[in-house]
Amino acid sequence: MKPVEKAHYKTVIVGGGIVGAGIFRDLVMNGVETLLIDAGDFSSQTSERSSKMLHGGIRYLENMDFPLVFEALHEKNLWLKLTPHLAKEVPFYLPVYSDSKRPLWMIRAGLYLYDLLSSFKNSPFSMKNKAECLNAIPGLNPERLKGAGVYYDGIMDDAKITLEVIYDALEEEHAFAKNHTMVTNVRKINNKSTLTLKDQFTGIESNITCDQVVYALGPFTDTFLKQYDFYHWQDVLLPSKGSHIWIKASDLPIKYPIVMTPQDEFGDRVIFVNPHGEKVLVGTTEVPNKDNLFDVKPTEEEIAYLLKNLNTYFPLLKLNASHIIGSFAGIRPLVRDDNSSGDRGKTSREHKIYQPCSDTYVIAGGKYTTFRVMGREITQKICHRFHKSFNRDKTESSLRRKSVISPFAWHLPTASDLKKICETEMPKTFEDLVKRRLSISTRAIWKENTQKDFDSYFEEHINLLNKYFKVTSADIARF
Ligand SMILES: Cc1cc2nc3c(=O)[nH]c(=O)nc-3n(C[C@H](O)[C@H](O)[C@H](O)COP(=O)(O)OP(=O)(O)OC[C@H]3O[C@@H](n4cnc5c(N)ncnc54)[C@H](O)[C@@H]3O)c2cc1C
Repeated sequence: MKPVEKAHYKTVIVGGGIVGAGIFRDLVMNGVETLLIDAGDFSSQTSERSSKMLHGGIRYLENMDFPLVFEALHEKNLWLKLTPHLAKEVPFYLPVYSDSKRPLWMIRAGLYLYDLLSSFKNSPFSMKNKAECLNAIPGLNPERLKGAGVYYDGIMDDAKITLEVIYDALEEEHAFAKNHTMVTNVRKINNKSTLTLKDQFTGIESNITCDQVVYALGPFTDTFLKQYDFYHWQDVLLPSKGSHIWIKASDLPIKYPIVMTPQDEFGDRVIFVNPHGEKVLVGTTEVPNKDNLFDVKPTEEEIAYLLKNLNTYFPLLKLNASHIIGSFAGIRPLVRDDNSSGDRGKTSREHKIYQPCSDTYVIAGGKYTTFRVMGREITQKICHRFHKSFNRDKTESSLRRKSVISPFAWHLPTASDLKKICETEMPKTFEDLVKRRLSISTRAIWKENTQKDFDSYFEEHINLLNKYFKVTSADIARF
């Protein structure tokens, strides 16, 4: 690993979620020396709490967001090609009932438009009658069922794609990255930014300077920037919380993702039910956030809402809290727009770039799927400022470094796998290792993936892990 103890960098990116990671890769591939910093582990906030879909956003068609859907569909199809070990295309079933808001003909028209906007790069949509639909999704509520539309999108490991984008960037000589390092102060000295970085383990602070700073702080944008008078920052976000639950696949045995479209007190929503190997992801909600941004959790009401809708679509399964093997919540960093009138569901998923000082860019909004486009826009501006040539196609190449554990071909890591992960994938805590390098977010999920006892497996490897970062039996027991 390269040392990152320089006092000055050409560019510093603050925020190592998918947006910061995408900008990082684009900048360094275009020859700009860059340091990427995150207060926690890379991808440990919003970018590991998404619905884990690479998608065009079929529901944005109703908002007439055609350019966004077009862009997202092209990015989705690109990343399905570039990271086949982390993302795969699957058929999504959108069941239609006699009282559904959108009848079958409208679904057919929408799916045609969706494929058209992908320049027909999506696998083609189809329509299913009731019998075909029940055959594909046993257990689906047959009462008043008319049929289903079937279209294609991607499911992915969101945290892993972010990490692999960063590993790929680090293949470049002039790329540096530091996780668990918080920016605790910013000063402008002679019109240049000086950032104070705090090592989150030792508490030691140090200063660095840079010619250009980029904030890719997702939902933390407003809180962070408002601390500094020289940014004259006014809130730009409409933070929107979304929660998910994981259900054991054996308790919700579906082969294909289902799109549920309830109409209730939460408005005209979409809830995805997406199988991921041994588990099924159900979400999401869309409510204002009341939690501390670094500690967002699903509320009981949100969980009850997801279970209620699952039981409407799958009444025989009688799912309840005991079937949940994990849950998580995240904050969508939506950018306020004048047309949304505060309705989070209708607020555009477009991103925006701000320049509060000549050497500072702030990027907010967007979707996971469109991160490369967001990175490209910032990179072009920075290359221009540094009088460097900019190649917009560089990031269309495959990632150069795969992580040891692939979520779609999961295997129990051997001691040599663990050693390789610790040496090449930058975990600094037990949670970094288990959650994001091994893709195991809870003990119950570990149990579904492997027959091994969680504690004894990690106790067996504790000495090995301790060569790289501090792990105690309490850390293992607490997970
Ligand atoms: C519930 C939900 C479902 C979603 N589903 C999808 C989906 O299926 N598909 C899709 O395309 N998009 C989806 N999205 C949108 C997508 O997840 C986000 O747009 C994207 O992850 C935002 O990434 P980011 O890098 O901007 O933010 P983040 O991932 O939150 O990154 C910001 C980083 O800044 C760091 N940071 C904060 N303060 C400091 C500091 N002082 N110093 C250093 N670092 C700091 C944080 O630690 C964090 O890692 C979903 C979002 C939500 C919430």
